[in-house]
Amino acid sequence: MPTTEVRTRFAPSPTGYLHVGGARTALFNWLFARKHGGKFILRIEDTDAKRNTDEAYEVIYQGLRWLGMEWDEGPSTGGDFGPYFQSQRNDIYEKYLAKLEAAGAVYEDEGSIRFRSPRKTVTLEDLVCGKIDFDMSNPATHPDMTIRRPDGSWIFHFVNVVDDIEMRLTHVIRGEDHLSNTPKHIELYQTLDITPPRFAHIPLILNHEGKKLSKRDGGASITSYIDQGYAPESVANYLCLLGWSPKDNREVLDIEEVTRIFELENINRRSAIFDLDKCFWIQGQHILKMSLDRFADLSIPFLEQAGIAYGSRDALLPVLAIVKEKIKLLKDVPDWIRYFFTESCAYDPEATEKVLKKEGAANRLAALASAFAALPDWTETSLEASLKSCASSAGCKTGEFIHPARVAVSGRTVGPSLYHMLALLGKEKVLARFSEAAAIAGA
Ligand code: GLU
Repeated sequence: MPTTEVRTRFAPSPTGYLHVGGARTALFNWLFARKHGGKFILRIEDTDAKRNTDEAYEVIYQGLRWLGMEWDEGPSTGGDFGPYFQSQRNDIYEKYLAKLEAAGAVYEDEGSIRFRSPRKTVTLEDLVCGKIDFDMSNPATHPDMTIRRPDGSWIFHFVNVVDDIEMRLTHVIRGEDHLSNTPKHIELYQTLDITPPRFAHIPLILNHEGKKLSKRDGGASITSYIDQGYAPESVANYLCLLGWSPKDNREVLDIEEVTRIFELENINRRSAIFDLDKCFWIQGQHILKMSLDRFADLSIPFLEQAGIAYGSRDALLPVLAIVKEKIKLLKDVPDWIRYFFTESCAYDPEATEKVLKKEGAANRLAALASAFAALPDWTETSLEASLKSCASSAGCKTGEFIHPARVAVSGRTVGPSLYHMLALLGKEKVLARFSEAAAIAGA
């Protein structure tokens, strides 16, 4: 039996940013194409030429690529059904307009061109929403749609349908906000005597107030995740869960696995509630389970941007290894490790006040410094034993030594395990910083 190749598309308008809702739509189309060994197409719906800037296109490409959704056909990739920008497809639209004219399905109205609705009931068998009948008989509620403006520019409904036909799309997966457009689109297909693609309208994404997620909501733009140092796999994982879930309801998933288990049947009909905290939690889970190499790859751009001279990857990996489990966002990596790669460390004023200048801290640091200086070896175990013995000689809790020691070598109150940190910093740096800190503490 001949089977048609599955062809899906993401058809964004270049509005200047990639919205979470758009990225989720793209992802569902991409997943469906991958699942079925089909093609995922990127088409830019830029008929509204005035608003479009180069950055507006770039932000879409960058967002999709960052999320791991390469397109099989589209801008820069090319393909058999291009150009993949609506602004360059005018001839094709003229050709389809001529077909509608020949069918007597359009008329002019004050310079605009309108499509004459057949005024029948349109039945949609939606792959998510099920069967829906749209009664199109009343022109008051369903006026004939404009397909071309007096200035010659095209209206979304018409060019969207023409391109879906020309690009041989088999499935249109898009937000439920388009559901009311779909009967108009089906009317165009019917008039052109072409079988429409299968439609799947996916649930809206709402904010915590139950309103449609807007630009102003935190986390609405994909760029914000890139800038804050989310891992792409975390965001893709979270996006999948906006309206879809695997049968066993697991939440931490690899996209590679999702490309195998993704089914339109598992899409919920209920709206999805956008929850940035959940996304943040998923990010933490992905950081924990990713390899050290992956963590390094993701961290390095942030380190470079922060101007951290970490030397070599070999020097960096052991440092990253001891902070990895504490990090949530990659943009925080520089502050967590900067002091490993500088001569001295910058003392946080609050840490200085609270910890270094605490009664007796200077003495304890001095005692620790001489105990460390006398150590025959420099390992986590020997450092720990030495610190504990200092604490017991002084008759105080280990914390009274740990806290000032941490601030002394890192300038911060939070960080990785102290003994690992000391071992990696090395004897020379630790002792130098101890004397610097003791001077501050005693001042
Ligand atoms: N350009 C339309 C949008 O961004 C595409 C709608 C569709 O997927 O058909 O909403």
